[in-house]
Amino acid sequence: LGPDLSAEQVKARLSSVKNTIIVLSGKGGVGKSTFTSLLARTLAAKDANSNIAVLDIDVCGPSMPRVMGVLNEQVHQSGSGWSPVFVDDNLSVMSVGFLLSSPDDAVIWRGPKKTGMIRQFLSEVDWGDTVDFLIIDTPPGTSDEHLSIVQYLKCMNNLQAIVVTTPQEVALLDVRKEIDFCRKTSIPILGVVENMTSFICSNCKQSSEIFPKNTGGAEAMCAELNVPLLGKVPLDPRLAQSCDEGGNFIQEFSDSPATTAFIEIVSKI
Ligand code: ADP
Repeated sequence: LGPDLSAEQVKARLSSVKNTIIVLSGKGGVGKSTFTSLLARTLAAKDANSNIAVLDIDVCGPSMPRVMGVLNEQVHQSGSGWSPVFVDDNLSVMSVGFLLSSPDDAVIWRGPKKTGMIRQFLSEVDWGDTVDFLIIDTPPGTSDEHLSIVQYLKCMNNLQAIVVTTPQEVALLDVRKEIDFCRKTSIPILGVVENMTSFICSNCKQSSEIFPKNTGGAEAMCAELNVPLLGKVPLDPRLAQSCDEGGNFIQEFSDSPATTAFIEIVSKI
C-alpha cells in the first residue's frame, strides 16, 4: 500500500470521529497514561450518550489495558475491522498490549514495523458510527510514532494536543520540545497539564510542593510560550493504586483533590 492510499483509508475510517486529542509528554513516568485514562473516563461519565475511544500507540510500553482494567481481554477481528475492547458501554480501548501474548512481553520493534502497526490501528479499528472523542496515548518524546501519527491525522478536523508534565526542570525542558513539535507539525495545543505538583495530606489537609525549587515553573513556561495551563494535579497514592488495579478512580475517590483537579481540567476541553 502506498502512503497516499493509507492516508485515504485512515481518513475514511476515522470520518466518524468528531474530536481527536493526542496526549504527549517529553518524559516517561510523568503521568501521561494516567491522564489519558482519567480524561477518557471523565468524558465518558459526563455524557452517557457520548462515545469515547482510546487508542494506545505507546507500542513499546502499552499501559492502557492495565489502567483501564481490561488486562486479559483480547481484540477480535470482524468483517468491519478490529473490534476494540469495551471498558464501559460508551468507552472503548485499542492497544498494542492486547496483541501481546503476555503483558511482560517486551515489544522491541523497529520504526517501519511500529509505523505499520499504527497505520493499521488508525485504518482498521471499528470504533462505531460516531466517536465524540478519540484520545490517543503516545510514547514519550517526539519519535517515529508521533511523526507517523501526525502524518495520518493531519486530515482530521479538531485534532488537538495536550502535553503532560511534572514541575521538574528536566521535564519542563522536554515539554518545550513537545510544544515545538506541535507547532512545526501544525497541531493546535489545547494546553499543558502539570501532574504531581503537590501532595495533600489526607489527615491535616496541608499541601506540600513535591518539587519546591520548581514551583511555578510550568506557569512561567506556559506564559512564555503562550499556551494555556489547563490545571495542576496533586499526587494521591490512591490514584497510583487505583491505576495499578484498573479501577475507576474518579468514581471511587470523588473526595480526592486529584479528582477535583481532573474534573476542572476536563471542563475546559
Ligand atoms: P507515563 O504514561 O507518563 O509514563 P504513568 O501514567 O504510567 O506515566 O504514571 C507513572 C506512575 O505514576 C504510575 O504508577 C501512576 O499510577 C503514577 N501516577 C501518575 N500520576 C499520579 C498522581 N497524580 N498521583 C499518584 N500517582 C500518580
